[in-house]
Amino acid sequence: MPLLVMKFGGTSVADLSRIKNAAEKVKREVARGYDVIVIVSAMSGKTNELVGWVEQTSPLYDAREYDAVVASGENVTAGLMALTLQEMDVPARSWQGWQVPINTTSQHAAARFMSIPRDNIDAKFAEGFKVAVVAGFQGLSHEGRVTTLGRGGSDTTAVAFAAAFAAERCDIYTDVDGIYTTDPRISPKARKLDKIAFEEMLELASLGAKVLQTRSVELAMRYKVRLRVLSSFEDTDDNSGTLVCDEDEIMESKVVSGVAYSRDEAKLTLVTVEDRPGVASAIFGPLSEAGVNVDMIVQNISEKDYDEAHPGAVTDMTFSCPVNQVARAKKAMEDARSAGKINYEDLVVDTDVAKISVVGIGMRSHAGVAARMFEALAAENINIKVISTSEIKISVLIDRKYMELAVQALHDAFELEKVA
Ligand code: ASP
Ligand code: MG
Repeated sequence: MPLLVMKFGGTSVADLSRIKNAAEKVKREVARGYDVIVIVSAMSGKTNELVGWVEQTSPLYDAREYDAVVASGENVTAGLMALTLQEMDVPARSWQGWQVPINTTSQHAAARFMSIPRDNIDAKFAEGFKVAVVAGFQGLSHEGRVTTLGRGGSDTTAVAFAAAFAAERCDIYTDVDGIYTTDPRISPKARKLDKIAFEEMLELASLGAKVLQTRSVELAMRYKVRLRVLSSFEDTDDNSGTLVCDEDEIMESKVVSGVAYSRDEAKLTLVTVEDRPGVASAIFGPLSEAGVNVDMIVQNISEKDYDEAHPGAVTDMTFSCPVNQVARAKKAMEDARSAGKINYEDLVVDTDVAKISVVGIGMRSHAGVAARMFEALAAENINIKVISTSEIKISVLIDRKYMELAVQALHDAFELEKVA
């Protein structure tokens, strides 16, 4: 039997009538001849409520009990979805993570998949069940405890099942109808993409296009799981939504596929650090230990090249991180200085910046994207503070007040409203 994975996020199962609506979509695929593995999230708001209960009960909670509580939201939806399908005469049953079993590491609240043996679910399909409804976001550690994967983890559960069961496709039903060239709330000209390559989606997902958990895209790319993002609130067919797929499946794409932004960035500059071997490691080691997610890094050129003859060379080091990690970053730097590991004259912090990125696999083979991007920003008189590039992405830090303007200007400059 061909097999599909269908994942329904929190808003798609927010109440009983939405669960029914989702179940109808499942029933339709069963009628077309598919065996279906349905992955469900908790009803929307439920996980936040459960996390709140844990925190109120025990501020320094035992992570194992956190997972025991927080995983329960998905159990409720899985049971209700199985019941709803049964009421529609679709042979279905629910599966909690430990019943499959979904084997994970024992990093509670951040567990990673170890293995998903197929035997138990395959045996039920062989008995005539058409649908396995699996609770997303959870698993089982080798100590026998319930684990969770981190917020948004049901997407990753869905992709992991699609890989384990060699599914034809993994459909992610959500409250948006696909992946857009940029956020439609910022640019009304944003256009829904029919297809996007894994690598592009990965850049967009990690840049704050919050539709898919980044890990799910990484996993899909590794196992070449075709992922489709589509709305559970619309009538959908085989062409609905956006297909996230291997670039080979995309005939011709534009040089730039999308413009992403991240609003809450901060820029920190260590002024006058020594320019000698080991300095970067002495700065970024402590930042990483302090849990600061450093993104862009710029080291200025120093007046004199470091060599034995110029031991006193100095430079400036600039990096960016999420704005809510600035306090931690400052403390890590001050501690490293007190401990004599680094030296600097000043630490300059700018918390009013945003990051804008243009992303596209076409950049690999086309020159001039950076020039066009900078020209578009210059035309709006937007100053660029930091630039970084990768093979398929160019990012800039700018003043946050220009964020919307920059997104619109770049969307226009690369004519993203037009189909290829
Ligand atoms: N319910 C979990 C959360 O809100 C997992 C998920 O929905 O993906 O993070
Ligand atoms: Mg989600």
